[in-house]
Amino acid sequence: MKKSIVMAMTALVLASCGANKQTLTTPAIEDFNYTVEQFADLQILRYRVPEIEQLSLQQQELLYYLTEAALQGRDILYDQNGKYNLAIRQVLEAIYTDPKQDKTSADFKALELYLKRVWVSNGIHHHYGGDKFVPTFSQNYFETAVKALPTEKLPLRDGETVDTLLATLVPVIFDPTVDAKRVNQEAGADLVLTSACNYYDGVTQVEAEDFYAKMKVKNDPEPISYGLNSKLVKKDGVVQEEVYKVGGLYSAALEKVVYWLEKAKAVAENDQQRGAIQKLIDFNQTGNLKTFDEYAILWVEDTASTIDFVNGFTETYGDPLGMKASWESLINFKNVEASKRTTIISDNAQWFENHSPVANEFKKEKVKGVTAKVITAAMLGGDCYPTSPIGINLPNANWIRAAHGSKSVTIENLTEAYDQASHGNGFRDEFAWSKTELDWMNTHEMQTDNLHTDLHECLGHGSGKLLPGVDADALKAYGATIEEARADLFGLYFMADPMMQKLGLLTNPDAYKAQYYSYFMNGLMTQLTRIEPGKNIEESHMRNRQLIANWVLQKSATDKAVELRVRDGKTYVVINDYKLVQKHLGELLAEIQRIKSTGDYAAAQKIVEDYAVKVDPKLHAEVLARYEKLKIAPYKGFVNPVYKASFDKNGKFTGLSIDYTEGYAEQHLRYSRDYSPLTVKH
Ligand code: ZN
Repeated sequence: MKKSIVMAMTALVLASCGANKQTLTTPAIEDFNYTVEQFADLQILRYRVPEIEQLSLQQQELLYYLTEAALQGRDILYDQNGKYNLAIRQVLEAIYTDPKQDKTSADFKALELYLKRVWVSNGIHHHYGGDKFVPTFSQNYFETAVKALPTEKLPLRDGETVDTLLATLVPVIFDPTVDAKRVNQEAGADLVLTSACNYYDGVTQVEAEDFYAKMKVKNDPEPISYGLNSKLVKKDGVVQEEVYKVGGLYSAALEKVVYWLEKAKAVAENDQQRGAIQKLIDFNQTGNLKTFDEYAILWVEDTASTIDFVNGFTETYGDPLGMKASWESLINFKNVEASKRTTIISDNAQWFENHSPVANEFKKEKVKGVTAKVITAAMLGGDCYPTSPIGINLPNANWIRAAHGSKSVTIENLTEAYDQASHGNGFRDEFAWSKTELDWMNTHEMQTDNLHTDLHECLGHGSGKLLPGVDADALKAYGATIEEARADLFGLYFMADPMMQKLGLLTNPDAYKAQYYSYFMNGLMTQLTRIEPGKNIEESHMRNRQLIANWVLQKSATDKAVELRVRDGKTYVVINDYKLVQKHLGELLAEIQRIKSTGDYAAAQKIVEDYAVKVDPKLHAEVLARYEKLKIAPYKGFVNPVYKASFDKNGKFTGLSIDYTEGYAEQHLRYSRDYSPLTVKH
C-alpha cells in the first residue's frame, strides 16, 4: 500500500518537471489501495484508470479538457438539489477550515461528519433515500461558529447580514419539518410543493403539469423534452421558465463548461465528435431543447471515438415529476478488450427482442443501433460524483432511441473498485443460505454482475415499444420504477437462457444462479440496510428490485420456486427451482412491458404500491441488526484521480499525469476552491 503512495508522489514530482510518459503508469490491482475512508453509511473508494497510458497524446489532451469541463458543473447540482445547499456548503466549509475551531470537540466532529455527508449528497438530503440529514451538532454551536467567522467567508448577498443568513439557514438545517424530503413521491401529496429540490419555485404540481401539458404537441413524432433544462417559477403571478444557459440561470458555471468544451472541440478525435461537442456548446449557449436533441443524435452516432463523455442536464430522477434533469458528467474511454463482450450482445439484439417473453404487439420489429461498450471512467462529475452509476444508457428521449439507437456503457473500473473493496467483508457469508450459494456468488458474481449491467443497459432499456399515441410520460411518478424493472427483468430473464453459453458470454451453466440468488437476496432483504427503520422505499432502482423479487416471491406461494426460510432465528432467501424463477421473471416482464407499452398508469401505480414500496418492519429490523454487526457501509462513493497537464512554453500540450493520492475532504475543499462558479465570493 505504501508502495503505491510513494510511486504516485514520485509521479507528481516528475509531472512538475514536464515529463509525462512514466507518470501515467497504472498501479497493479494488488498494489492499489481502493479504500479511502468510512463514515456514517458511506465508504469512500478510489478507482484505477487502467490503460490511460495507451491513449495518444491528442487523446490525453482531449480527455484533460473534458475532465475540466466535468468539474465545472458541481455547483449547479448543489443548487438543483436544494435552494440553500450552496450557502450551507460554503458556511460549513468555512467553519471546518477555521483555524480557531477546536478540532477535538464533539460538536466539531459532528459538524465534520455532517459536512462529509453533504459532500456525498451534493446537498443536505441523503443522495439515495432523499431524507434530510439530522445534524448531531447543536444549533448553538453552529450559530456561535458562524458569528466567529470573518464576514467575507460567508455567502452574504447584497443586503444580507449574518443574522438574516442564520435566520434562513438554521431551520433548513435543524428543523426536521422544513424541507424534509428532496423528492417526495407519496401518493396524494402535491409532489412539487412537498419536495425540497429546487426545480420549482412558487408553483403547485397542478400548475407545473398544466404548464407543460400546454406545450406538448399531440402526436409529435419528435417530441421535445420540455422542462428538461429549466426551473419553473411564478413571477408577478405568471408561471414561467428560468432556462439554464449562458446568460440565463447558472450562467457562470455554464460559461466555464463551454470554455473547456471549446478547447476539447479543437482536439476532437474526428469530425463526428467535433460536431457533437459543437452542438453541446450551442445548446449551453441557447438553452434550445431542439438543439439538445440534435446534439444527442450526433453524440449517439459517434461510435468511433475512443474518448467519450456525458456533460449536462441528463437524468430526471431528482424531479418528482420526472421532467427536469440534474447536471452530471462522466468522462471515459473505451475498454477495447472487454467491449468484445458487449459487441456480441448488441450484434444479437434482434434475437433477444424476438425471443423475449412479451406480447408480440409490444416488440420492436427492428431493434436499432444498440451500441454497447465497456468503458473506463476517468472523471466523475455532478450527479455521477462522488456516488456513481456502474452502467449508463443514453440518450433518454424515446424517439431518438427508436430512430437513432442508444449508447450503453458498463463502467468496469468502478465495478472493479466495488468488488475489490468488498473482498472478505463477511457480507455474503452472513446472508447466503448455504455454502453452495456462497460459492456460486464468490466465483461468478463479478462476471454476472457485469453481464447483467450489459444486458440491462444495452438490451433492456432499448427493447420494446410504446403503442401509437401513448404518451412517454404516461406513468408519471411510477415511470422510473417501471422502466428500471423492465430493463432488470430483461437481463435476468435472458441470463438463464442457453443462448448465454452459445454466445460464450457465460462459460459455466450455473453462473446465472449466482446472479439470481444475489438479486433476490438483495431485493428481498439486504437492500433494506439502506433504509432507516420505519421508512418506506422511495428510490426507483430500489423499488424496482423489491418489485421484482417480491412479486416472484408472492407468485411462488404454491410452487415454492423462491421462499424465505428461518434458521436459528435468521431469515434466508432459498431458491428451490431456478428454472421456475426464470419463468416467473418472464411473466412479470410481459406484464411490465404491457404497462409501459400501453401507458397503463393505474396498473403501474398498483403494482408499485403493492410490491415495491412497503417494508416488513420485523424483517427489516432483523436485517439491520445482522448487518450492523458486520460494520459495512451500504453506500460507496469515490474520490477522483487528480490530473495534471503539462504544456511547453508555446502553450502546446506535452502530456498528462495522474495522481491517486488525494484524500476525500482534501478533494472537496479543492473543488470548492477551484470549481465553484456559483458560490458567493467576496
Ligand atoms: Zn437502468
